[in-house]
Amino acid sequence: MAIHKMDKPNEGIKCVVNTCEYYMNGDHCAAQQIEVAPRNASNSDQTDCTTFTKKNTFS
Ligand code: SF4
Repeated sequence: MAIHKMDKPNEGIKCVVNTCEYYMNGDHCAAQQIEVAPRNASNSDQTDCTTFTKKNTFS
């Protein structure tokens, strides 16, 4: 699913994954929505943002 990248932070999200296409300076996420998985996780170490997309460092 294509996620819209906004030109401003999604105020409900703090994210430090600075290698993500949606990452914005200040530990913000500019994705309009994110998805977190997996179902039935037992602790936060097992959860990941599946919306993560590797930033293209050549652009
Ligand atoms: S899409 Fe996920 S990994 Fe990427 S900046 Fe947003 S919350 Fe972080």
